[in-house]
Amino acid sequence: MNKQYLVGLWIEHPVRAIDQLYTYTANQYVAQGTRVRVNFNRRDVIGFVEECVALEGSIEAKEKELGVELKQVLEVLDEEPLITPELHDLAMYMKEMTLSTTISCFQALLPAKVKPTSSKHQIVKEAWVILSDKEVDLTPKQLEAYLYVKEHMPLKYSDLRKAFPNQAHVLIEKGAIQKEEKEKEASRTVHEAHIDKFPLTPLQEAAMKEIEESEDAVYLLHGVTGSGKTEIYLQLAEKELEKKRQVLFLVPEISLTPQMIARVSSRFGSELAIYHSGLNAQEKYEQYRKVKNGIAEIVVGTRSAVFLPFHDLGLIIVDEEQDGSYKQDTQPAYHCRDMAIYRGKYHHCKTILGSATPSLDSYARALKGRYHLVTLKERINETLPSITLVPLKDAIKKGESYILSDTLSKKMEERLEKHQQMILLLNRRGYHSLLRCNHCQEVIHCPHCDLAMSYHKSDKTMKCHTCGTSILVPKICPSCKQRASFSTAGFGTEKLEQEVSKRFPHARVLRMDADTTTKKNSHETILKKFENQEADILLGTQMIAKGLDYPNVTLVGIINGDEGLNRTDYRSCETTFDLLMQASGRSGRAKEEGEVVIQVFEPDHYVVECAKNQNYQRFFEQEMKFRHDGQYPPYTYMISITIQNRNQHEADAIALSILHQLEGDYKKIGVIPLLKIRDLYRNRILLKGKNLEEMRTALGKLLETNTFKQKDIRIDVNPMGLDG
Ligand code: ADP
Ligand code: ZN
Repeated sequence: MNKQYLVGLWIEHPVRAIDQLYTYTANQYVAQGTRVRVNFNRRDVIGFVEECVALEGSIEAKEKELGVELKQVLEVLDEEPLITPELHDLAMYMKEMTLSTTISCFQALLPAKVKPTSSKHQIVKEAWVILSDKEVDLTPKQLEAYLYVKEHMPLKYSDLRKAFPNQAHVLIEKGAIQKEEKEKEASRTVHEAHIDKFPLTPLQEAAMKEIEESEDAVYLLHGVTGSGKTEIYLQLAEKELEKKRQVLFLVPEISLTPQMIARVSSRFGSELAIYHSGLNAQEKYEQYRKVKNGIAEIVVGTRSAVFLPFHDLGLIIVDEEQDGSYKQDTQPAYHCRDMAIYRGKYHHCKTILGSATPSLDSYARALKGRYHLVTLKERINETLPSITLVPLKDAIKKGESYILSDTLSKKMEERLEKHQQMILLLNRRGYHSLLRCNHCQEVIHCPHCDLAMSYHKSDKTMKCHTCGTSILVPKICPSCKQRASFSTAGFGTEKLEQEVSKRFPHARVLRMDADTTTKKNSHETILKKFENQEADILLGTQMIAKGLDYPNVTLVGIINGDEGLNRTDYRSCETTFDLLMQASGRSGRAKEEGEVVIQVFEPDHYVVECAKNQNYQRFFEQEMKFRHDGQYPPYTYMISITIQNRNQHEADAIALSILHQLEGDYKKIGVIPLLKIRDLYRNRILLKGKNLEEMRTALGKLLETNTFKQKDIRIDVNPMGLDG
């Protein structure tokens, strides 16, 4: 009898209940990370091999020993392991960090075409033609086609058919040429004109040298917008590419603009892969193969590009490291930054986190010396835009428009006359469910948390999503004590566009937000138009605040500069400050001096003040005080546990039971009811404490117990946002 092997594998289904190794037998050795087809509970499913050892003794003896019936692996699906040893370790690290199931971590690593659950996805094949060595008689026209193949090999069958529609098929029939099926490959990047690199400024030079000469693994490159960080990334990348090592350049979802891609691709003669969520499954798979086959030398991509199968990374860049799009909000709720740092260590390469407004977590780590802090103090053009604050309460009292104040309108008019461009930002990401008093313009805050409460229309209550406090809408305003008359705060970009067109009928306006960018490439089209100066005003949501570099933009208007402060989340200040700084950074990046107008309700708020003075350090100190007083991260760690259930009683019961069973030196906050979504009742429990390991271990153990492993419980370790 053939030699038999025992195979331990993970079953493709991402529920906790089966997150364990199952044993099968195989008559060949199967390497870790290979996919196999097996029978599980009478269903044909895919498994991922974890371990494989030669079987000593008979199968029957082994079955007796294990007390189970051993089934045979039905088919080995991959010639070589899909998950390399490095990615396997990364998945295990992710599992531990995020308390997710093993298979969900494997899924996160792989593009949809090869994901465990997607056997329905077909790999797209293409037909190619080659000459055969068979001798056949050909007509003159067929001979011409034959010679065409000879000259153009390797040639796609479809291309031959285009050139010789009547001969292609006959040549194959006669056996003069042969068809070959190959997996469809991504087209090679076309390089535009080679843009020369800039000689670095002395400040850039110093920063680059500091990074190059240090042995440290992780760097935080802190430099105001327009200080030349990207230029440094590119020059560091160039050096690694010369050494034939690969470069991974990670960018936030919204800053992967055509401008950014052009900037990278035009610089290098190297092969570039681009990887982001806008690609369809086939396109993603093609880019994945380019990396796997070692064709791509540099990859520019968003979050999931961090999992591409690199062979030899020489540099990892995480641009705008504070950006929320680096955190995955579904399971496994990993942070791309953590994954990047992990891979950097594996490849012994440097990881550079770059930002004008680093996350508090990263900056605090840098100050502690865990990241190597490198600072760029000045803009390339040495002038920051000048910033004007418009207190909206005063403007409204004077009867000015609450959308476009007189100050902003006047400056807009000036730009239109001078044929300069401007950007108007309206940060309304759906957080308009606040109540603002019509008399004093104050927003209703949680009595316990000092965070804005969100208005729940259905039961006319105000709820705090952080501590769970719920109150009825007050009859008198808590701030000015007048009889209540509230309006829901917030208006959208559509209304802003209307107002702008009414006020400036001749201005050419482009709007960019979730509604105007649903079509593929609409993003690119809008930005291209603006770049070509086919519009005077670009207005939109936070989509337009980041990364754009247009020299003719000399005015940025921020319509509702502090609305973000009223979010129901402890990170409201951080994200608002980031947005204000980023948006301001779009103005005056070239020769013309830039101006920024920020309209606000709270001109004295430290976030607004620090943004006006473009002072990150001061913001950091103030915000760290707030975090310290409230014992929020980075002074503590948090884990958010969300229980989902179709039955409200059960959702409550599970939550209470978790709450009671968790014991330790940490705070348990909850049960906090969240909004019902898609008929699922949702409850949240927050764990907050100084010892993340303790919380993680306790929760991990609990989730493995029979009571909980069948339940729909979502875990988010170090959540980025706590909005329902
Ligand atoms: P950041 O990434 O910090 O926002 P960039 O690298 O985009 O900064 O640089 C800002 C602008 O200055 C860009 O338009 C860039 O082309 C230009 N720039 C960067 N470095 C130099 C340099 N050494 N000399 C001249 N221009 C530069
Ligand atoms: Zn509260």
